[in-house]
Amino acid sequence: MVKLNLLGTYRNGNYNVSLYFDGTKVRETLVPEDTSFIADFPECIDLKITNQCTMNCPYCHENSTKDGLHGELFNNEFINTLKPYTELAIGGGNPLSHPDLIKFLELLKLKNIIANITVNQTHFMQDILIIDKLINEDLIKGIGVSFTSYDDNFIRLAQKYPNLVLHVINGVVDYNDLVKMFGKDFKILILGYKNIRRGADYYSQAIEGNKKIIYDNIKEIVNGFKVTSFDNLAIKQLELRRLFTKRKWDEFYMGDDGQYTMYIDLVNREFAKSSTSFERYFLKDNIVEMFNLVKTLDKL
Ligand code: SF4
Repeated sequence: MVKLNLLGTYRNGNYNVSLYFDGTKVRETLVPEDTSFIADFPECIDLKITNQCTMNCPYCHENSTKDGLHGELFNNEFINTLKPYTELAIGGGNPLSHPDLIKFLELLKLKNIIANITVNQTHFMQDILIIDKLINEDLIKGIGVSFTSYDDNFIRLAQKYPNLVLHVINGVVDYNDLVKMFGKDFKILILGYKNIRRGADYYSQAIEGNKKIIYDNIKEIVNGFKVTSFDNLAIKQLELRRLFTKRKWDEFYMGDDGQYTMYIDLVNREFAKSSTSFERYFLKDNIVEMFNLVKTLDKL
């Protein structure tokens, strides 16, 4: 049995969470027979810190542009109410373009908040020295790289980072590019295609065709990567439930959006259940207060 290195443990509502350095997360209820996991605060927050990005991807559901605004990273009282070991998935836009990124990450480290960032493949290559600094100074635990196209140089470089996860978009990624990465020990996160903002303009039959190829070859993809994970939108688009027994599904499924996770946009100073939610609220000073509202959204 592989021994995992423990990063930390904490209690949240009626269960305990153990986080490991390789990104593994284990939830256990305080009473073993209890199968309901009720969170008091979010385990993971998708945090948008900027809308600036030079890539101008035609499917960008954030509508990020080279002139996009940066969010204010300090003077956010809710940061002081985050619980230790809360995971922040910091993105944008291009988070590396934010002038206050490093100071912000230093603040999070002091508070024992787990910061991860997501950058585009091109920015990863361009700013590799900054990425190294963030990792070497333990300012980030993990890095997501939005994969755009197969490139030997990128693959060679990416293989050096054990906590790197390739992000691909269902409907955008070319299956042949994925096949070329099989057996190279990569972790991959498949994200659902977001049919909003530029994503709505870009949507076409070609996207549906690509999605169908991923749908038909999902077992090959899972076997080709060291770890394969999915966001909830991809789970829906790929109908992953079809591949699991009930017991395995209960073990695999990490919960609906808003049950353990939420979204905060520091550019527009608002929060929501997820980045695709149109129902958004003005930022509050306390994370628990925001999360309590998010949890009720389906029940309203
Ligand atoms: S790299 Fe990401 S944030 Fe930038 S334009 Fe493309 S999809 Fe949008």
